[in-house]
Amino acid sequence: VIELADVCRDFPSQPPVRALAHVSLQVGRGDYLAIVGPSGSGKSTLLNVLGLLDRPTSGHYRLDGTETTTLREKHRTRLRGERIGFVFQSFHLLPHRSVVENVMLAEIYTAQPRAGRRGRALAALERVGLTHRVDFPPGRLSGGERQRAAIARALLGGPSLLLCDEPTGNLDSRNTEAVLGLFDELRAQGMTIVVITHEQEVSERAGRRVRITDGTLLEE
Ligand code: ATP
Ligand code: MG
Repeated sequence: VIELADVCRDFPSQPPVRALAHVSLQVGRGDYLAIVGPSGSGKSTLLNVLGLLDRPTSGHYRLDGTETTTLREKHRTRLRGERIGFVFQSFHLLPHRSVVENVMLAEIYTAQPRAGRRGRALAALERVGLTHRVDFPPGRLSGGERQRAAIARALLGGPSLLLCDEPTGNLDSRNTEAVLGLFDELRAQGMTIVVITHEQEVSERAGRRVRITDGTLLEE
């Protein structure tokens, strides 16, 4: 699914920063990869590159066989919408909208027809086990339920790759377990999952772990 070859990402700040230094990484379909490393080591930069939110300064990134570094922005955006779901530490749910409305909103910028929008959102909510919460406002959900709603939103376009930046960083251990259980299920359905985490609990569940230090990636 993912083939990164000799990727560097330099930020032209003062002084300049090399956030990724000659990173090569292959991730196969259905892999569950954890990325660990200290603050400022390049984890989010790597995830942004993988998610086509940022472009490498040099090197190559192939996603499902497509070389992405030379693609026009329009095509990158489309590829991102079709293949990739994002999950973040803070759930980014709108407080005055119900759970199902929050999920439906994810389709606004896609080519999906308006008809069936609610049905697709409900199907995504069923996948994460939130059928009983669809009409609740996010404020009345537990942290784990909020993250599951955010994951339902990420699943909406039918992505094959889920990119998560500290997905359990705001959760207690019980809610962490609920989200990790969900990742296990998604993976059993063939989803490829990449998770940035500081928590051993989370990295232990992944089949594979890589460590970034000062922009350099090492397999563990
Ligand atoms: P954390 O665990 O704190 O989230 P991280 O591993 O995700 O850290 P990154 O956010 O990837 O770290 O940052 C890697 C390096 O790149 C840091 O030195 C950071 O200051 C720098 N950096 C990140 N984004 C930019 C930017 N837009 N402009 C300049 N420098 C940046
Ligand atoms: Mg980060």
